[in-house]
Amino acid sequence: MTVPPSPATATAPGGGRNLQAIRGMHDLLPAQVGTWQRLEDTARQVLEGYGYAEIRTPIVEVTELFKRSIGEVTDIVEKEMYSFADRNGDSLSLRPEGTASCVRAVIENGLLNQSQRLWYRGPMFRHERPQRGRYRQFHQIGVEVFGLAGPDIDLEVILLTARLWRALGLTGLRLEINSLGDAAERAAYREELVCYLDGYRDRLDADSQRRLATNPLRVLDSKSPETQAIVAAAPTLMDHLGAQTREHFAAIRAGLDAAAVPYCVNPRLVRGLDYYNRTVFEWITDDLGAQGTVCAGGRYDGLVAQLGGCDTTAVGFALGIERLVELMELTGGRATPPLDAYFVAVGEWAQREAPLLAERLRDAAPGVRLMTHCGGGSFKSQFKRADKSGARYALVIGDSELERGVIGVKSLREEAEQRELSLPETADLLAARQDAS
Ligand code: ATP
Ligand code: MG
Repeated sequence: MTVPPSPATATAPGGGRNLQAIRGMHDLLPAQVGTWQRLEDTARQVLEGYGYAEIRTPIVEVTELFKRSIGEVTDIVEKEMYSFADRNGDSLSLRPEGTASCVRAVIENGLLNQSQRLWYRGPMFRHERPQRGRYRQFHQIGVEVFGLAGPDIDLEVILLTARLWRALGLTGLRLEINSLGDAAERAAYREELVCYLDGYRDRLDADSQRRLATNPLRVLDSKSPETQAIVAAAPTLMDHLGAQTREHFAAIRAGLDAAAVPYCVNPRLVRGLDYYNRTVFEWITDDLGAQGTVCAGGRYDGLVAQLGGCDTTAVGFALGIERLVELMELTGGRATPPLDAYFVAVGEWAQREAPLLAERLRDAAPGVRLMTHCGGGSFKSQFKRADKSGARYALVIGDSELERGVIGVKSLREEAEQRELSLPETADLLAARQDAS
């Protein structure tokens, strides 16, 4: 059987086919992983610092879940989902976002008898046009809070993100917030908006013309410059908010002011998903080109009931790991901690002993970053490797060191004579080095 050529294959020089990753889905190589880990570790620390608990849900769900939550007339459901028929004919989809799965999980597992502050992380899948900051497999860290209705929790999730940026050393992110009102307020606004936009129907982009009938608020979110110009003069939802929604929004603003977190109110911020109400927010940077939104979220009080759960208020956000990692890389900073030591073993006896001594060092100095040389070779070639490894010390043993029960310790970063230390002394040195880093 001949395999038809596909975009995921290329002809190798020998005539065979090299398999390639799927377009828009990327390998994460060791050089990049350090920054990812720093982001993930910092996020986890910040989240735990606010008492949030992690939840993990499957990557595949029934397609119906996303249709019912994200909305039929959204970019995601209309054209971005990886949906396929399971072997028994069920329509399944790779998750395009985390909120729907999270809501399904808390309903299904009966977690809504008390309030929940949850977070998750993992890959999401959307069939978008791949470009900088936009991939087909991308990764998010997200937060979902259930059962808390007041502005205090909206404020908390925003302050939590602000703290995360500080912990990551990211500056220059700006916060935009808006209130989408409640269902009735939005319905009244919707009529007025349709009326206004109808006057410019012919000048709207094709998607917006279609959305005018199905989901007119999304027109506010259009990326087309001409549509944006029309939208700039449109009536705003802010003018249609009732007293309670207005109060809720004012409380968040007051909290942000008091916490000295700068923000701007963007009356045209509507978000791409259908389920939001009241508070929506985005963190945006100008340093990443067109895909500048690194974190987005808001309140979605109706979604739990809409998916069959009891009436439960909810608020959350998701941040795009790839975009934040790119931002972290731009601002520099060392990502992966360097090795503390590289173990050089010359001769057969030393090669047998080195792994055992390394184990004892790892026992005595927990957390030490110690790499042993494998594959033998001359002292010179091993020492070259040690230097290249970025380690702080080379630990050297040969027959002579073993006979005398010592380890040669040579600093690779400073001018200093090689010393001979006992195993406990070496362990102390490496442990002290860790405390200092
Ligand atoms: P956009 O307007 O950029 O398409 P969105 O509204 O579709 O964003 P959300 O669904 O709110 O995005 O996802 C939250 C965050 O996840 C985004 O702000 C972004 O940082 C990230 N994100 C979304 N889609 C992608 C993607 N295809 N590739 C990389 N990151 C993404
Ligand atoms: Mg999108």
